[in-house]
Amino acid sequence: MSSSVFIVGAGFAGSVVARELADAGWNVRLVDKRPHIGGNAFDEFDAHGVLVHRYGPHIFHTNSVRVLEFLSKFTNWRPYEHRVRGVIDGRAYPFPINRDTLNELYGLDLNEEGAAAFYEKVRDPRDPVRTSEDVVLNSVGRDLYEKFFLNYTRKQWGLEPSQLKAGVAARIPTRTNTDDRYFTDTFQSMPAEGYTRMFERMLDHPNIKVELGTDFVEVRGKPDLGHVVYTGPIDAYFDHCFGALPYRSLRFEHEHLPNVAQLQSVGTINYPNDHAYTRITEFKHLTGQLHAGTSIVREYPQAEGDPYYPIPSDDSEALFKRYQTLADGQTDVTFVGRLAEYRYYNMDQVVAGALAAARRLIDARA
Ligand code: FAD
Ligand code: UDP
Repeated sequence: MSSSVFIVGAGFAGSVVARELADAGWNVRLVDKRPHIGGNAFDEFDAHGVLVHRYGPHIFHTNSVRVLEFLSKFTNWRPYEHRVRGVIDGRAYPFPINRDTLNELYGLDLNEEGAAAFYEKVRDPRDPVRTSEDVVLNSVGRDLYEKFFLNYTRKQWGLEPSQLKAGVAARIPTRTNTDDRYFTDTFQSMPAEGYTRMFERMLDHPNIKVELGTDFVEVRGKPDLGHVVYTGPIDAYFDHCFGALPYRSLRFEHEHLPNVAQLQSVGTINYPNDHAYTRITEFKHLTGQLHAGTSIVREYPQAEGDPYYPIPSDDSEALFKRYQTLADGQTDVTFVGRLAEYRYYNMDQVVAGALAAARRLIDARA
């Protein structure tokens, strides 16, 4: 008898598990409450014909050969290295902070050793490095912290950097060289025809049945669902029995600018100290699309709304642990993905986790 599985969520976590199990001969029913596949990586052509990411800019980067090989079955790639600049007092500087940032900001002419010596002089050593404030002060000191990090972080999370775990700010490196790429992974490329097209191919399998606009709450408890793979928020699965886990949300303000071929010099401009939004991304940089106009998105952080980011703080981690204990006791449910595992994962990390989860399920049935 073939195995069957019921998957909640058609983002990376749910779709990767779906395909792996379908390839192994399982019958897969995949539901998403949204009217589309792809989860937060969903992209679409806007009313002006520009390919945009509905839920904010998604740039693919990975060091994992396994993840790359899996995804490459469903897409070709367009090489793209993301670049970001941060605006301080009306001027845009390379970000993450590198040697050029220091030289331009302070009117210096540092070489690599000079930049290392500069950080050594201005840094505010912290031991232990526990919070995001510690991370930044420890590496670049107070002035750069206040210019680039403090207000951006307050805006993005509604918290002080001292309330956030070290891992949040540790996503951003500090450089003594002039590398102005946002990421340094060995593989940095965008799906050639977009994320949605890649998901369509991933889910195009005779063993996979996709039902969109279907909320798990409508079907849970029905007999014969089989094993459940759940990729939504973990607290919602347990009816928020310990209280709601905090997730940070965003409001996306999309805009098309006709007859502006290029608005920004780089894909994303960050605004740590101005505006209610954190950053503006211009999609044509990411996709390489040619168009007479351009489409951008501004991201406004907010507490209410769709859950986009788990909040890495001591309090939320403690609450998550209580839900995780419940989850560990569910033999007929697998929790996987950014919301279900309450982890600030990038796309490739979610794919790696989903491949591993599918393997465990297959092995358990073998
Ligand atoms: P999701 O994509 O959130 O998918 C979960 C799905 O479950 C959703 O479609 C949801 O509708 C569905 N669902 C939830 N509850 C239910 C229910 N009760 N019933 C039915 N369906 C349900 N990563 C990168 O690697 N690079 C980037 O540049 C990058 N940029 C990002 C920018 C933003 C603004 C955000 C928010 C994230 C970004 N990420 C980026 C992270 C990336 O989005 C995630 O790692 C990845 O999409 C998570 O996939 P997932 O399947 O775990 O979750
Ligand atoms: N950050 C900051 N200033 C910036 C960019 C990032 O202070 O100009 C901090 C902020 O706390 C942010 C974190 O670094 O949440 C991680 O940034 P990243 O760009 O990785 O965030 P994401 O793309 O996941 O929203």
